[in-house]
This record gives sequence, C-alpha cells and structure tokens, in this order.
Amino acid sequence: SLPHSGQGSLYLIGINKFRDINDSVGHHNGDKLLIHIAERLKQQLQDEATLARIGGDEFAVFMPNTNSDSDISLVERRLHQLLAAPFVLDGETVVIKVSIGVVRTQPDQTMSLWLRNASIALSYAKQDSRTSVCHYSPEMASASKFRTQMIAKIQTGIDNREFVPFYQPIIDLASGNICGAEALARWHSDSGMVSPLDFIPIAEESGMIKTIGQQILFQACSDTRKAIDSRRWPEDFQLHVNVSVHQLSSPNFVESVAKVLRTTGLPATNVTLEITESRIIDSAPTTLDNLLKLREMGLGIAIDDFGTGYSSLAYLHALPFTCLKIDRTFINRLTKENLDSSVVSAIINITKGMKTNVVAEGVETAAQAQLLSSLGCNQVQGFYYSRPMPMEEWPTHLVNMK
Ligand code: C2E
Ligand code: MG
Ligand code: MG
Repeated sequence: SLPHSGQGSLYLIGINKFRDINDSVGHHNGDKLLIHIAERLKQQLQDEATLARIGGDEFAVFMPNTNSDSDISLVERRLHQLLAAPFVLDGETVVIKVSIGVVRTQPDQTMSLWLRNASIALSYAKQDSRTSVCHYSPEMASASKFRTQMIAKIQTGIDNREFVPFYQPIIDLASGNICGAEALARWHSDSGMVSPLDFIPIAEESGMIKTIGQQILFQACSDTRKAIDSRRWPEDFQLHVNVSVHQLSSPNFVESVAKVLRTTGLPATNVTLEITESRIIDSAPTTLDNLLKLREMGLGIAIDDFGTGYSSLAYLHALPFTCLKIDRTFINRLTKENLDSSVVSAIINITKGMKTNVVAEGVETAAQAQLLSSLGCNQVQGFYYSRPMPMEEWPTHLVNMK
C-alpha cells in the first residue's frame, strides 16, 4: 500500500483495452504483461516514487514533493514514454496504450480519497478519445456521483416497472386518419416525470437500456393488441417502437422480439422498429444481420431522425428499411419560399418509386402540414395533432386531423 505522506501527486495508470489484449494473447501472457509493466515501472521509478498495483490492470504511482504543473507534466510524459516501448511475451510483441488519471495530493486528505479521485480522473481520460491524461477536478466527482445515483435509481425504476410508453399518433395526410402511433418511453420516478433525453443516454452507457427497451416493447405490443381487439385501433395499425443500437446489436434481440410477439399475440406486421440514423453506421455486424431477420419476420424498420446523421445513401441502401422519419429540424425550416429546394422535398423525391413511408416529425403548425401535403409527404406526427399521451387519454377526436 501507499504511504500517507502529504503533498505530491498521484498517477493512476490504466491499460486501454486490456481485456482485448488479454483475449488476443491469452490469460497467461496477459498476466505476464502485467508483471512486465510492474517491473518497468519499478526499475525506472522506485527511487523517487511509491508504486502499487490497484486492481486488475491499474497501477498507482505516488510522487511525493512533485506538485508544480511543469513537474507533473514531466512525470506524465515519462510514464507514457516508459510504457510506449513494446513488451515481448513468449516471442510475441505487444504494444499497449495507457490512460492516466492525475491527482494533486493534499496533506489533509486521505490516501483512499486520492485513489478515488484518481480513479474518477482515469475514467474521464479513458472516455475522452482526444487525450490520454486527465487531471482530477471536483466537478468530475459530482458528475460521476450524479451518474452513480442515477444508475441506482434507474435500476429501482426497472424493478418497480416505472418505465411506461406514452403514445403519439401518426397521421395519414391524405385521409386524415390515424394510421399508427409512436411509443415513447416515460419514467414516472418518485422525484417526478423524467424525460427520455435525460435517462436514455445513461441507460445506454450502463446497458440497462436492454431491460427498459424490452419492458417498453412488451407493454406497447400488449396495449396495441388490446386496442385492436376492442376496435379502438384498426387491424392494420402501425405501432412504432424506438430501439437502441445496444438492443439491436445483441445476439438474442431477434428472439426476444419474437417472444414478445408470441406472448402478446400481436402480428409482426403491426410493428415498426425505429433506429436512429447516426447510430447504425458504426455499429456491430450483428446489427445488420438482426435487421434483416426482423424484416424477414415481417416487422417494419424505420430510420429515425433522418437527415441529421452522416450516412450516405449508398450505405442506407444496404439497410432493409420500410420507413424514413424526417427529423423535425427540417420541418421547422420549411417555408413557402424554400419549399422546392428544401431537404424535405429532396427526401420525398428520392423515395418516390421506393416502397418507403415518409413520416415528417415535429409538425407544429397548420402551415407546416399544408406545405408537407403539397410536397406529397404521406405521414405526419407532431404537437399540432397531439402530444404523446398515456393510453387512457388516447384521443378519440383529433381536432387537427384533417
Ligand atoms: P424520437 O424517436 O425522434 O421521438 C420524437 C420526439 O419528438 C419525442 O420526444 C416527441 O415527444 C417529440 N415531439 C413530437 N412531436 C413534436 C413536436 O411537434 N415538436 C417538438 N418540439 N417535439 C415533438 P421524447 O418523447 O422526449 O423522446 C426523445 C427521444 O428519446 C426519442 O426521439 C427517442 O430517440 C428516445 N426514446 C424515447 N423512447 C424511447 C425508447 O423506448 N427506447 C429508446 N431506445 N429510445 C427512446
Ligand atoms: Mg422515434
Ligand atoms: Mg425522431
């Protein structure tokens, strides 16, 4: 363990992608690599520093008396150089990259606090692809404390089934009929209603989105089955459900969708899964496989927030989509004057001749609806028609439908 000796600096070194290295060289060599790293650090630093291995693939270096900015950056450079030279394991050469979390230590603080703060800084350094070193600051601790608390709350929310779908109607412009609805997740937490924009990113990072997504899908399919049975919704009603790439890239996702459909008795042809454009591009190969399988089962695939990503049409062509949802920023910008040169017009023209539904998102005014209608857009969704609402409040009469 490290001595408790006041003013100095503490460096927590983490090996990037150690698990991948371990998988490719084997666990035996992975262990050897750690020993080599420890030896190198010892050889070069043991006279000036105190060294320790903290957990699996992290090493701590404590430098007493090193406290100035220039001294600290010197140490950072030394550590990087020291570990940049290749390691040789059983004749195999391994090059590692490291991230470093740095804390300036104070005499009135404890070692465990230094280590905790260094660990927070290290996790920031690992997350930020632009830099490999991060200096601890108190804002980081409160942000990560917030995150930790949020994760615990989301877990409780999952256990208590606090995540429920609200429904926003999708309207067929030509007939004015409701032809479907998008299920949008809402979290009734004990501290009030939480927007998906606030919990989805954390749920995705932590993997909990899989469970939440599954709960929403199940509830939405079950609600739709009941609404069709009671003739509230027509037989060919399209239920749209958002799915995260974390769900889609999972090998058992297709089976879990099939199970929900079997359990609820809702035909696959009643369901369209929405995927955000920008997120599909660099996702795992499983994602495309899964999309193809889902399409084969009869589900629709919608590209959400279309136009905001950077996907090429050539790439999109490989995706088995049945629907494009034009992001609301493009609907916002529509005017009589720019209509013909608008992105919306271009998208509608491209999809002519393809069997693709085009849904305009975020329609807020009658004027927008009129412009969209003149462009030949077939479906619309937005506050002008209805806000997302719980099933009990589903509108039987939409004022703005036609
Ligand atoms: P999205 O899928 O693009 O959903 C549309 C969002 O636009 C919804 O926000 C909706 O309330 C909002 N919206 C609808 N009409 C209008 C309008 O006329 N004007 C304006 N300004 N906004 C409008 P919401 O419900 O806050 O959802 C935000 C995002 O969270 C969704 O964007 C979707 O990406 C994600 N999300 C929601 N539910 C789920 C879910 O169950 N699973 C996953 N993975 N993501 C979800
Ligand atoms: Mg959506
Ligand atoms: Mg959208």
